[in-house]
This record gives sequence, structure tokens and C-alpha cells, in this order.
Amino acid sequence: MSNTTPNWHERARSLAIEGRAFIDGKYVGAASGATFDCVSPVDGRAIARVASTDRADADLAVAAARRAFESGAWSRQAPRERKKVLLRFAELILEHREELALLETLDMGKPISDSLAVDINSTARCITWYAEAIDKIYDEVAPTSHDALALITREPIGVVAAIVPWNFPLIMAAWKIGPALAAGNSFILKPSEKSPLTAIRIAELAARAGIPDGVFNVLPGFGHTAGQALALHMDVDCIGFTGSTRTGKLMLQYSGQSNMKRVWLECGGKSPNIILADCPDLDRAATAAASAIFFNQGEMCSAGSRLIVEERVRDAVLEKVIEAGRKLQPGDPLDPATRLGAIVDDVQLGTVLGYIDAGRDDGAEILLGGRRARDESGGFYVEPTIFGGVRADMRIAREEIFGPVLAAMSVKDADEAVKVGNSVVYGLAAAVWTRDITRAHRMARALRAGMVYVNCYDADDITVPFGGFKQSGTGRDKSLHAFDKYTELKTTWVDLS
Ligand code: NAD
Repeated sequence: MSNTTPNWHERARSLAIEGRAFIDGKYVGAASGATFDCVSPVDGRAIARVASTDRADADLAVAAARRAFESGAWSRQAPRERKKVLLRFAELILEHREELALLETLDMGKPISDSLAVDINSTARCITWYAEAIDKIYDEVAPTSHDALALITREPIGVVAAIVPWNFPLIMAAWKIGPALAAGNSFILKPSEKSPLTAIRIAELAARAGIPDGVFNVLPGFGHTAGQALALHMDVDCIGFTGSTRTGKLMLQYSGQSNMKRVWLECGGKSPNIILADCPDLDRAATAAASAIFFNQGEMCSAGSRLIVEERVRDAVLEKVIEAGRKLQPGDPLDPATRLGAIVDDVQLGTVLGYIDAGRDDGAEILLGGRRARDESGGFYVEPTIFGGVRADMRIAREEIFGPVLAAMSVKDADEAVKVGNSVVYGLAAAVWTRDITRAHRMARALRAGMVYVNCYDADDITVPFGGFKQSGTGRDKSLHAFDKYTELKTTWVDLS
């Protein structure tokens, strides 16, 4: 790590970018030779050619992963040995933090300051945490009768494929890499076609750390080719998926059509952020409400995309949220001062602008933003946008936009807030701002969401589970509970009579 502030544009120009797949310990092109352009949303320019893998490559990666698993070189290593290697892997990620942060920003458009402070650090911390955990977890002995000994043990599941999105390319991958590798599985990572570069880069670091050939593979490519080939594969034991609810439902079908592989889904959200009149600090709540929707350009599964405010404080809250949002104008993602970056690609830009039109057409009022920004850069940027006067039946109140667009609604009391909060098909996160602790707990119980924040938003730690109710998914990333996804339970009954 250097001590001086890097000139990121200069660095970007001299960056050597690897675009090949990583199979069985080596970088290789796609078997078909196909590639696709990796376009940077920062300025719309192609920055790399990336291997477009498909079924033939998936077959090679799965075979390598299976061979490695059966060999026991990783799966039967003592947990403390896997720990050592994973700790080294996390260290190497930190040693390459500037390069990885730059790749992340160039690839998906988030501000370089966030890539450095959030993405790379959280990725390393996650892998470290699972490495540290794995040699401290004990199996169980069941309370059977005296003439039997029943062991309940956990075993690695086998070949795990992770299919991940583009909004936090490394973090979403790390939430699966950490527990799956620590538990002894072989792993195939299919990054989003919109953000494959850091996944490809860390494969070499994994090998350098000592992860044996075939245990960690990366297959860049499209969903309907590489992703589908893995999800339908007869020799993949488990899919750890993060992405849209629409694709998540396909994963369940693919499993049924193939080998009933375990499928764990982390999908979309449309999370309510509820501010009641007895909120302890309206300024803090408003600043948090703005960052809940504008951080990472609103490209967050857990974004507080519905602001539900008790009528009595509606005007005061909205004024403050607009003020906070106004300060977050999009800027050059490579400038360390920028806090709102680019939208991942032109397709997502079109989706976000389409929802802004839908909000207008449905009669909601634009209170802030609403337009494309920084067109001259060649990249894809949208102003932070706030709609007022939103009704729960409008599209912008029901559907996940995945961009910097906030739908603000008002309600008469806490009961109505919960009712509106629970009225969508998603159940990922929710927040309540109130100084009444009884009300906070009652609402937290009533809200159908995997994470409920009280007097904060998006508070985060690797120690707590992350995931959703309803169509936001199944299973949980993070915390020790994530091991449930990547291990099988076995009962061994010994007759002692
Ligand atoms: P997406 O569903 O389009 O793609 C996700 C991944 O699935 C990508 O790697 C893609 O290539 C692959 N894929 C697409 N179609 C496929 C198919 N037919 N077969 C196999 N694989 C396929 O989602 P996205 O646009 O990349 O990501 C945004 C979504 O991710 C949002 O809905 C967001 O809420 C969700 N997300 C959820 C969480 C969570 O933890 N719950 C976290 C981050 C993002």
C-alpha cells in the first residue's frame, strides 16, 4: 500500500486487466474462444475483453472442483490448516486493496472511496472471520439412551457454485466464499457479466495463498450461458445465489429439473424506512434515510427505497431528506471526494429512468432530481431522485428500482406504517425510528423482514445474518448461520448395547 494519495486516472491507464476464466489453478480462455467487452460505466469505454464461458467450461470447472473435493486436499484438511490458508488469502486481498478497489470502481461505477473503505475491507474481513471460526465449531452428540452413541456431524456439501450480482461484486462473493471454503467445499464463482474483473483477479490470490488447484474456480460469462450451465449441472451440489427475484425463481426450477441441488437465494427488496413523529432525532433520521437510498447509487438490495413518514412530521422530514440528497450529486467515481458514482451500465440506466417516468405518469411528484446526469462523461449517471405523494399501489412503491430513486409516502400512525411496510412481495429489510421502546419492539415483530433496524439504517456486521422473508429469498448470508448452507448434517448411530 502506498502512503501517497494515488492518481486513480493515471493508475487506471496503466492497469493490466486479466479477463480469462480460472479453472483448476490456471487462467484459461473460454473453450469456444468467445469473449465479451467489459464496458466501464465511468465513461462508457470498453476496458477489457472477458472470456464468455458456457457449458463446456462449466463442465471443466465442475470436473476440476469434484476431483479436488474427492482428493481431500482441501475438504479433508484439518480446519486449522484451511484457516491458515484463508487468512493468507484475506491478507493478500488487503495487500492488493488499491488494485482491487480500482478494478471494482472501473467495472461497476461505485466511488473509489467506497471501494477502498467498504468493499475491499469487508471482503477481507468476511474471509478472515470464517477462517477464524472454522476451527472453533464443534459437532454434537445427541441425548439418546445409554446404550447408543449418536453423533450429529457437519460435512462439506461438495461442489458449490456461487452466482452473484454486480452491486457489491467482491462482498457478495465473499459472503459465500468465506463459509463455503472454510467448511471444506470446492467452489465455482460465476460473477455478473457486468462486473467480472475483481472475481477473476482474486483467483490468482487464492492460488497464491495456497488454495489447492480446482478448489477455487471463476467462470465469467452470461447468466443464460455460464450461470444456467452451473445451475442445471448434475454434479453441482449447491447453488449460492444472489440476484434478482426473477432469476432466483429460475434457480429453483433448474434445481428441480436437474439433481435437486440445494439452492439458497438472496434476492431483491423494497424495504420500508418508517419515521414516526416521536423519532428521537429527525436530522439523523433524514441523513440516514438519504444514505439508505443513495449509497452505492441506490443499487442495494437492502436500500430503504420506501420512506414511510407519519403525517405530522412529513414536511419536516422531507425537507431534510431533500437537503441531504441534494448534497449527493453524482461525480467522477475515480475522484476520492465523490460520494455518488455511476449506474452499472446503460441497460440499468434505462431501467432507472423508465421508473422515474412511471412515477411521473402515475401522478407522483418529483421533489428532487429525476434526470440523467454527467452525459458529457460518456458514462451512466442519474441524479438522486425523490418522489413525494406516492401511493402504495404505484409501480415505484411496489417494484425494486435498484437505483437512486426514493418513494416517499405518509401514513397516519404506526399501525398503518406496518401495514404499508408489509404490503409488497419482498421482505428483506425494514427500519423504525421511534423513541418508544415498546412500540419499536412491537413493530419489529410485526414487520415481515429479515433485518429490522431501530433508530438506524443498514447497520452491519459480519456476526449477524443477512437475508430476507417472502420473495427476498431463502437462507442467510453472514454469521455462523451461513455454514448451514454449505454443509450437510449427518447422523451416525453407534449401537453400544
Ligand atoms: P440478476 O438476477 O440479473 O443476476 C444475478 C446473477 O445471476 C448474475 O451473475 C447473472 O449473470 C446470473 N443470471 C442471470 N440470469 C441467469 C439464468 N437464467 N441462469 C443462471 N444465472 C443467471 O441480478 P443483478 O441485476 O445482477 O443484481 C441485482 C439484484 O440482486 C437485485 O434484485 C438485488 O436486490 C439483488 N441483490 C440481493 C442481495 C441480497 O443479499 N438479498 C444482495 C445484492 C443484490
